[in-house]
Amino acid sequence: MKKNWLFGTISILMICITVFSFTSKRAVNSPSARIQTIIIDAGHGFKGSLSAGDGAFGSEVYEDKVTYEVAKKVVDEIKKQLPDVRVLESRPTPFFVGLHERANFANENKGNLFVSIHCNYAPKLREVRMEGHRQETYYVYSGKGKKKKKIKKTRTVPIYKTYYHPNPANGTETYVFAAHKTDDKEDIIMENGDVFQNEKDDSTFNVNINDPIVKQQVALWTKQFFSNSVKLATIVEEEFTGIGRFSRGVKQRQKGIWVLQATAMPSILIELGFLSYRPEEEFLMSDDGQQQMAASITRSIKRYKDLVEKGPTVQNINGRK
Ligand SMILES: [Zn+2]
Repeated sequence: MKKNWLFGTISILMICITVFSFTSKRAVNSPSARIQTIIIDAGHGFKGSLSAGDGAFGSEVYEDKVTYEVAKKVVDEIKKQLPDVRVLESRPTPFFVGLHERANFANENKGNLFVSIHCNYAPKLREVRMEGHRQETYYVYSGKGKKKKKIKKTRTVPIYKTYYHPNPANGTETYVFAAHKTDDKEDIIMENGDVFQNEKDDSTFNVNINDPIVKQQVALWTKQFFSNSVKLATIVEEEFTGIGRFSRGVKQRQKGIWVLQATAMPSILIELGFLSYRPEEEFLMSDDGQQQMAASITRSIKRYKDLVEKGPTVQNINGRK
């Protein structure tokens, strides 16, 4: 009995130490900590001489070129406006980079923010019109055996023609990953936990990832990343509206954006506009349009940074500001 009591006390003490180590270590990299490293991710990429481009295509330009040029401008703007921040590119050249590679790059560099830049596309609208009629010949058979007769007949049938129209869909959209689909994201956060475990200066740091308390902590982190992603996405769309762009709002994608689900940091995906809509394609191809978008994105990041670093409503997981 006495032995059990002692064992129980030691166990509780061990759990407390573990959880304390876990939370205090995490505070360094918590979603509300200082934003020191921003990852700018230019969507898609040139896959070699055999293909003209990658991603969505307008009448003149492929998405990979627009995202690359806007991303470069965002990087330049951040360097100018936020000189104390480290800004890194997950796709630094025009060439394609795989999604896993992008996410690993962001995680390995301990990014505090992941901003992926893309362009939208809407397929042409298909319209089928009836345009007049024509005579069609067909045959019927009557009788049986040797008496069987083939009779030629005619009938009137409508003529249909298919037309394709430019899709008028336009505007900006900013995506956040689905909050309930957290498994992948939690796994990656746990992997970061392993990195901390291996740090030389803290040999006693040992997290049992199957511990329900630790699991709960990770779930909370995932939620915090989500809410910060929504905050940033909302600011981005506000800034786009401010320069006269039509905003389709902040949206949530259930699947298909592995980069956003696998990065252990608040992350958003910006759709700059529709390349299928000629006025937006022209705007996004122009140096001025790209510069305006890059400046808006940078202003949003700056506002978000101020909000999470100084804002009264944001607290880290230990309850401290
Ligand atoms: Zn894209």
